[in-house]
Parts: sequence; structure tokens; C-alpha cells
Amino acid sequence: MIPGPIEFDPDVMAAMSSPTTSHVAPNFIEIYGQALEKTRKAFLADGQGEWGQPFILAGSGTLAMDSAAANLVEPGDKVLQVVTGYFSDRMQTIFERYGAHVSRVEAAPGDRPELDQVETFLKNGFKIMAVTHVDTSTGVLTDIKALAALSRKYNALLVIDGVCSVAGESLRMSDWGVDLAFTSSQKAIGCPPGLALLVVGPRAMEAFKGRKSPVQNYYADWKNWLPVMQAYEDRKPSYFATPAVNLVHALNTSLSQILAEGMDDRFERHAQIGRASRAAMIALGLGQVPIKVEFAANTLSAPLYPEGVDGPSLLSAVGKQGVILAGGLHPAIKSEYFRIGHMGACTQGDLLAVYGALEIALKQLGYHPPSSGVAAIIANW
Ligand code: PMP
Repeated sequence: MIPGPIEFDPDVMAAMSSPTTSHVAPNFIEIYGQALEKTRKAFLADGQGEWGQPFILAGSGTLAMDSAAANLVEPGDKVLQVVTGYFSDRMQTIFERYGAHVSRVEAAPGDRPELDQVETFLKNGFKIMAVTHVDTSTGVLTDIKALAALSRKYNALLVIDGVCSVAGESLRMSDWGVDLAFTSSQKAIGCPPGLALLVVGPRAMEAFKGRKSPVQNYYADWKNWLPVMQAYEDRKPSYFATPAVNLVHALNTSLSQILAEGMDDRFERHAQIGRASRAAMIALGLGQVPIKVEFAANTLSAPLYPEGVDGPSLLSAVGKQGVILAGGLHPAIKSEYFRIGHMGACTQGDLLAVYGALEIALKQLGYHPPSSGVAAIIANW
């Protein structure tokens, strides 16, 4: 129950062990083509016309970040980074690697910048505004719909790190006008680690095509990948670098499951799990890293350790009951909190098991919760 890699559905694992064919074998061309089409749907990037170019690349989420920055940034470009945690910092580092001048609009860990603060910055003119939809280090959710409206108003491209959100939190790329969103396979997409998924909207593609300088990254250059993605969607063979054949099989299966559930139902299921988890934390008397309920993510929870309870001992006592949770990640508050991932195939039963184990472990360590987290989940379902 860590925030990625998550647990994977048995059908996804079975697809992973399909025979490894050539990347230009007819069966694989069909699978890759389907996976691209389904990626566009899962990002809700299927607006009118040629909306939303998907890319499926072999690599982790950091490759997706790298690919977004390498292809959109030219030296000297101005980027506004909305900072809500560790992964926003990483994104800034990557933009700077490609020569961008990055301004930060930030808040303390657990908080997020107000929209009017962001607007004040945007008035200075930026080519790109980058936002982490859910920062996995803090569990803070940003308001992408409102930020997209601001980015349109000030003519900045909006780049979303959706690694901990896509297919879990509501994200409607074409409706909201998000210019680029990316994720990786191992989180709410529900496929083992190893794939970077990006969807590029028309404005971002236009900016890419209008570049004056070459992309400073060979593997991630969209010029190499665009013909390949277009060919597979047209069910034609193509090659730039060997795709991760088995992972694409697994992805195609997990995307089918996601679309069969339906994006709205899937967002609501995650919202339900998020609400139940927050109710359980309150019942147990645990504080949370996100300082307001409106911006607590539904894909993971970030409870604070209660006073007097040693963090590593708690995680170990929970682990002894077969439940694996993650420690803190944000350097400024790392030892004060832990993280519970609840995205993708996570069920009500999983959440009950987590809070049951947590409640027992807390009692073993001498902390007696004011009420039962398990009972709160049942009451809030
Ligand atoms: N962004 C966010 C929000 C993440 O949670 C992660 C991974 N936890 C990354 C980027 C980087 O992804 P990866 O570890 O797959 O490179």
C-alpha cells in the first residue's frame, strides 16, 4: 500500500507474460495502436479535431518529466514552477538543465500557493507554467482546472505532472485546456514500472514544432518518436528505439480495465477511498500533511505520526501484519509523517486492512486512539 508501484491486477500480470514478439509483429502493432488510443481516452484528451498526441516510452516517470522539459524548453525560456513538494523541485531542476529561467511560486509543505499568488507571477509573462497535480511527497492536490484557466488567460503552456494523479484524480485535459500531462505506468494506471506516458495538446505541439534550437536530448526527442506513435496508431510498423513490448501488453490490458470502469466512476471511487481514509485518520487522532481537506489527494494519504510514537517502529509493526506503507519523503518533514497509497485497484477491503493493522500497531506502541479508524471507514462508506 505504498504510493507506487501499486499492486497489479492478475490479468495485467498475465498480459505481461505474453510471448515477446518483434516490435513490428502484426499482433504487437495492434496492441501498441490500441494502447495509444486508450491513453488519449484515459487522459480525457479526446477533444475535437486532432486533440492530444500520446507518447508511450520505455522509461520511468522521470523520463516523462525529462521529455516534457527537453521538447518544450529552449535556452532562456521563462518557466513558472508551482511548488507543492519534492517532485515540483525535481521538475524545476530538469527545466533548468535545458536552459530555462525558472521562477517558483511556493507554499510551506502541506500547503499550496493561492490562485491570486500564481496570477501575480503569471502577469510577468511565462512560456510555461508547470504544476504537480498530486505531489507524492506531501499528498497535496492542486486545482488544475483553475490553474488551466489562468494559464490560458496569460498565454502560458500548462504542463502537468500527473504521475500520482492520472486515472485516479479528475483530470480532463481537453475540456480544461491542459497543454501537456504525463504519468508513469506504476501508479493509478496500474501497470508495472517501466513506461512513461505523455499526452501533448495542440498548443504544446505547435510550440515544439516552432522551436528554433534542436532538442538537447536524443532519446526523448519527439522528432524521433512522433512518426513512430503516428505509425502505430495507423497500424503500421515503425522503429526508432525498441519499445518495451511486454509492458505495452500489460498497459493495454490495464487501460482496458480503466476505460471499462469509466473515468467518472473511477474518479468517484478514488474520491470515496480518499474520504474514507481521511475519516479514519481523524478517528485515530492523526494529523495530516495537507493542511486543508480541499487539497488532500485521493490517491494517497499522508498521516503524521502521533506524539511519542517512533516512525520506523510503527511502520515495522504494521509491516509485521503484512501491510507495507511508505515513510516520509519531503526533506523538510521527512521524519514526521508516513504515506499510504490507495490508487488503482485499491478496494474498500484493502483500506480496512491498512487501518486495522495501523490501529493494532499504534496500540502495541502505547498510543491509544480516541476512536476506531476501521469503524470510521465503515461509517463513511
Ligand atoms: N512525479 C511524481 C508526482 C511522482 O510521484 C514520481 C514518482 N514517485 C515521479 C514524478 C517520478 O517518477 P519515477 O519514480 O517513475 O521516475
